[in-house]
Amino acid sequence: MVVQRSPKPLAWVRFLLALPKHRYLLYIRYIMSVRSKLKLILVFSFVLSVMISPAQALTTSEVAITTAFQNIQKVIAAPAGYVTPKWPVAASSTSAIESAFGVRIQNSTGKYDWHRGIDIDAVLNTDVYAAETGELWKVYQYPNSTYPDGGNVVILRHKFGSPVVYNGKTLTYYYTLYMHLNSINQTLINAFKSGVLLNVKAGDLLGKVGHTGEPNIADHLHFELRVGTYCTLEFQVANPNSSCSKGYMYDPAMNPLLLFAPPASSTTAVLSTKPTSLVDGKVHISMSDAQTLLNRVEFSITNASNVVVKSSVLDFDERTGFNATSTSALDTPDKTKPYFSPLIFNDASLSYQTDVIIPKAFISGYDGVSYKRTLTVEDIWGNRVPVKW
Ligand SMILES: [Zn+2]
Repeated sequence: MVVQRSPKPLAWVRFLLALPKHRYLLYIRYIMSVRSKLKLILVFSFVLSVMISPAQALTTSEVAITTAFQNIQKVIAAPAGYVTPKWPVAASSTSAIESAFGVRIQNSTGKYDWHRGIDIDAVLNTDVYAAETGELWKVYQYPNSTYPDGGNVVILRHKFGSPVVYNGKTLTYYYTLYMHLNSINQTLINAFKSGVLLNVKAGDLLGKVGHTGEPNIADHLHFELRVGTYCTLEFQVANPNSSCSKGYMYDPAMNPLLLFAPPASSTTAVLSTKPTSLVDGKVHISMSDAQTLLNRVEFSITNASNVVVKSSVLDFDERTGFNATSTSALDTPDKTKPYFSPLIFNDASLSYQTDVIIPKAFISGYDGVSYKRTLTVEDIWGNRVPVKW
């Protein structure tokens, strides 16, 4: 939640959201257009293509929820005069992602920090909009807010088009969270106090950008997407009998960019230091600042018989490889296996960058020529970039 901006905000980022990829439609069109004697071969090719299609690399749960959000983007009709979903901050010369979802280095502390949302840079009192049509779920008013570090907070609840299975649970709802608001729209405050479940349309004014809850931090919107429950795993663990804990017990925050149509991948990954039993290795990952879509890295070592002898996974949305039961555990990387070492990212940065460190102890004994090593970087939409050596 905490972000320290550079003194002179200058990022001006367009959010060019490319059309969703209809890869499967292309395959179907292709198959339909050929003559019958070729169909068998093409069907086989199609099956093979699907098997190696990037989206399949996500776990079953992630494929389900990714499809659910893609369907939300495609299927839900926007109310007249609104765009669904809508970028939650009014366009301004400083409207940009200045802190990505997942691991980061906090500028103010220089420390490794696991960020459960994205920070959107904006000047004080910029309009904040509902990103998606739904209903007003919670209002927390600063300074009496019980929401830790959130300041003025608005939470909206939204319904999936159809229930989605994620982490073995059947989910009906997802939530969007808007934090550090300088003020909250009085209509929302009145409705929440009166107990009326207010319907909110994508694009409705929720409040104004500020920095409440974080007095020493520059103005920005901390924006989150949570699936199934609006309570963090940390809260669920501490309050197991709360209504938002029962039946969940996972950390529900996912990359909020899942709400928006998938842009073309801008991710690159390069081996910058080859790991040996004497030296830690390093793979450098970079993506444009408007497309902070990093979700997962998989590292594996195979022997001469192509058998995997060692592997490791880090997945932001599912928290694979992370301990999310407490903020302090989540903010402490496990350096006995490959781990992220992010570079500073703020509103002046043109790209989000992180190194993945492969500890020498992890690769020791497996750095000979008979072994092959692959580190695969994957974004929230399943686009994969492999690095092999
Ligand atoms: Zn934040």
